[in-house]
Amino acid sequence: KKKLQQELKGKESITKDGKKIDIFANIGGVSDVASVLQNDSGGIGLFRSEFLYLGRDTFPSEDEQFQAYKTVLENMAGKKVIIRTLDIGADKQADYFELDKEENPAMGYRAIRICLNQPDIFRTQLRAIYRASIYGNVAIMYPMIISVDEVKKIKEIVQSVKDELTKQGIPFNNVEQGIMIETPAAVMISDLLAKEVDFFSIGTNDLTQYTLAIDRQNPKLDFIYDPHHPAILRMIQMVIENGHKGGCWVGICGELGADLTLIEEFLRMGLDEVSVSPNLVLSVREKVRNTDLRVTNN
Ligand code: PEP
Ligand code: MG
Repeated sequence: KKKLQQELKGKESITKDGKKIDIFANIGGVSDVASVLQNDSGGIGLFRSEFLYLGRDTFPSEDEQFQAYKTVLENMAGKKVIIRTLDIGADKQADYFELDKEENPAMGYRAIRICLNQPDIFRTQLRAIYRASIYGNVAIMYPMIISVDEVKKIKEIVQSVKDELTKQGIPFNNVEQGIMIETPAAVMISDLLAKEVDFFSIGTNDLTQYTLAIDRQNPKLDFIYDPHHPAILRMIQMVIENGHKGGCWVGICGELGADLTLIEEFLRMGLDEVSVSPNLVLSVREKVRNTDLRVTNN
């Protein structure tokens, strides 16, 4: 098996009948890049940037973040790197944020909600990403979106950060803008959201939690936590259709993207990208290369 996967390095992720899909990798920090490269991933589809904020006593400075992003971009040598902005709160806590204890943290003050309510934190991260943008091919995506209004507010802040950098004579590149689709609300308004951004990345971990009303962290509920639930598969189909109609490319960065029993179905739905754990990139590639969409087997 190892040998077969070895042979897949350097090969395209393309079906027998010529349909291509981007297979990217999920990372939590700079140190994961080695494994991304080792597994010949086409890019990074989810850089969980909150890990830069965890396990420390103070906010990471703009420069610290800039260095981390720059290092990842340089190591990826022009391949796409999608940085997800801070997704702290709920299961990921850092004391210096001074977040209150909540009854329902998964539905609480977290992710983009913190960033829009405390824009200084958000602006620091955006400045660091834009400054790093000249060192590679970076895209940004925003977690836990529920409304068009949030996206409009994000775009205003991004514009003001860019204006500030321009005024200071700091160079930056154009950066592709995307959102995570991981709430049922975002799915249902994905036609409207598609007009605002360049891409969607479906977070099936949270989408399953919120759609099925099952705490993803509660092992007692593992027996009914079912990402194959038809509600989830219909949602994915809907998001791909609405995304494409609105000119967005659409990916999956939740764990379902690595489910080899579903890859063929995702390809038929028109999925453009999957982002999976680095060690699964080659198995997904193998599955894609063995798929022939001209053959119907059900
Ligand atoms: C998801 O929710 O599917 C996702 C990819 O994000 P995280 O697992 O970091 O919440
Ligand atoms: Mg999530």
